[in-house]
Amino acid sequence: MDIANNIKRLAGCVETARLKSPLAAKEVVLLAASKTQPASAIEEAIGAGISDFGENRVQEAENKWPGLKKKYPGVKLHLIGPLQTNKVKQALALFDVIQTLDREGLAEAVAGVRDSGFGIQEKEFYIQVNTGEEPQKAGVAPEKADGFIEFCRKLGLPVVGLMCVPPVGQPPAPHFALLREIALRNGLGKLSLGMSNDFEAAVRMGSTCVRIGTALFGERAVIPA
Ligand SMILES: *Cc1c(COP(=O)(O)O)cnc(C)c1O
Repeated sequence: MDIANNIKRLAGCVETARLKSPLAAKEVVLLAASKTQPASAIEEAIGAGISDFGENRVQEAENKWPGLKKKYPGVKLHLIGPLQTNKVKQALALFDVIQTLDREGLAEAVAGVRDSGFGIQEKEFYIQVNTGEEPQKAGVAPEKADGFIEFCRKLGLPVVGLMCVPPVGQPPAPHFALLREIALRNGLGKLSLGMSNDFEAAVRMGSTCVRIGTALFGERAVIPA
């Protein structure tokens, strides 16, 4: 497993996919999904040019990232897993980007600490959409997305884009297309779309941020429950 080599190869695949599609974005961020990865692997990725990282759990990120952020102040940390309302302050203290706003109570909790020095106006927020309407999956339902985007904007949250995780075992392209359509009609420029298995299709559909774990770091150890 050679992280630097993987990154080089992935960047090449992203660029090839990008050049193939008229819908593709001008720039695609290669975000390293670093859940379960040790600091050493993260530092290897930083050394190979990665500046955006995604973590799924606030707790895990709190154990891993404060030292790394101090050492590499240019790195942008994204929360790509569900956020519990009672962890909002901890999350805002550490993450630069929250990709998983998905319910009114959470948006209100974030807006509620707007004046408490977390620098919310400098952060970026994405709304997660449950494009497959899977009961076990986080995200606002597609038909509720327009209303929820409006709700977040009225609260003054800087919403920049949408994020989704399509259902396993289905072709991802229709889900990517649906997300793109919701973003376009709401004037949102960023699309967090695509993982190890489907990032090329995501780039062709206009992804501005692919979230890659396995193909970049290698297989993950099993995540303890
Ligand atoms: C883990 C994770 C990824 C990366 O998944 P891979 O298939 O390992 O590339 C992307 N997005 C989210 C939300 C994740 O939890």
